[in-house]
Amino acid sequence: MNADSMDKKFSDFDLEPRVLEGLDAMGFSKPTPIQAQAIPEILEGKDLLGVAQTGTGKTAAYLLPVMSRLLTNPRPEDQIGALVIAPTRELALQIDMAFDGLSYFTGTTSTAIYGGGDAAGWDTQKKALVSGTDVIVATPGKLISHLNLGYVKMDHLQCLILDEADKMLDMGFMEDILKIISMLPKKRQNLLFSATMPPKIRELAAQIMKDPVQINIAISQPAEGIVQGVFMVYPSQKVPLIRHLLGARPLKSVIVFCSRKTEVREITKALQGLPLEVKEMHSDLEQSEREVVINDFRNRKVQVLVATDILSRGIDIDGIELVINYNLPNDAEDYIHRIGRTARASARGLAFTFVSPDDLHNFHKIERLIKQDIKKIKLPEAIGEGPAYLSEEEHKTQRRHSPSKGGSGKRHKGGTYSKNKNPKGPGK
Ligand code: AMP
Repeated sequence: MNADSMDKKFSDFDLEPRVLEGLDAMGFSKPTPIQAQAIPEILEGKDLLGVAQTGTGKTAAYLLPVMSRLLTNPRPEDQIGALVIAPTRELALQIDMAFDGLSYFTGTTSTAIYGGGDAAGWDTQKKALVSGTDVIVATPGKLISHLNLGYVKMDHLQCLILDEADKMLDMGFMEDILKIISMLPKKRQNLLFSATMPPKIRELAAQIMKDPVQINIAISQPAEGIVQGVFMVYPSQKVPLIRHLLGARPLKSVIVFCSRKTEVREITKALQGLPLEVKEMHSDLEQSEREVVINDFRNRKVQVLVATDILSRGIDIDGIELVINYNLPNDAEDYIHRIGRTARASARGLAFTFVSPDDLHNFHKIERLIKQDIKKIKLPEAIGEGPAYLSEEEHKTQRRHSPSKGGSGKRHKGGTYSKNKNPKGPGK
């Protein structure tokens, strides 16, 4: 970011006065870097390609100028003004909620269109679409179902926003997105946001955008307010350790990430009996169940959410104190998304990661990606001695000498490991 955009105030932009009122109400006093750079460009009607993670304030970076342009460029009442496409229902709902807050004084409306609801939900969505809404926030599949029925009026659509485009491509939505785009007016503004910029996203951008302005906000780096730590553990030490961490001090808001649904269920069970309300969150839950759990978590009725990566991106809940990676994510980039659930918008937060000997290779990938050595924390005495941490070099050497073993400890029949003999040990 250049020094110029660092000192910007919201009032420096040509935002509609009613939009500025909404900002006061939300308590946003200063634009975040992506807002400072994107708002003037979007207000000018330019196409924009933004590389930004969640937590940077990217939602408001596009909602504010889009809302402002909708207010100053009126259209027939039954016509949709802007369309936001997002990968998951949770993210769609969250963008819709952000819109509600920011648009409070503007009289503009938005409707979230997503699957998984019941027939009544479908009817409510249909009604909103038929009678006209300024902005639709939709997941691709469900939007296509509505579009196919012919009552969604997009002829005057001014702006298309693809949010978390890389995630949508990963989830196989490319075809759906192209189909939706084929149903939109050719003359429109296009905004594309993505946490990463793989070649496929560049191709998509080249296909749908005209000379987009490009904005890059600190790619692949965790927010500065997050204090990160790693515990080297044997698998059998993970449950005792997590119970120890959760019991060590009063906590109001914790997310525990696991890779698989079965594991989410096991850990949720293993955490019962602590003086904390613990709930699970994964894609097998009904949409209505997910909403109740998320709401209870937001309201602090539930203090611990055990979740799959369904929750790792985009979900914005204030004041999460601690993220625990019960195991490593499959994709190093997801580590940043997971720990980004804490320390939102420059607050502080803690992120602990459990690493077993077999995870070392993937763990080094994460350290390489974020260009940091994450602090190795000594296990609490009650948990016993853990395996040694090995640097990338040490790990490679060890694997060369015993190629059949991926990890730094020998597995016995019972699933435990031989005692750590490495003098370096944890706590590097
Ligand atoms: P996002 O990256 O859009 O998910 O936003 C992350 C969090 O930052 C959300 O909780 C927003 O409400 C908050 N936020 C966005 N912009 C600002 C701002 N200018 N000042 C303070 N908080 C903000």
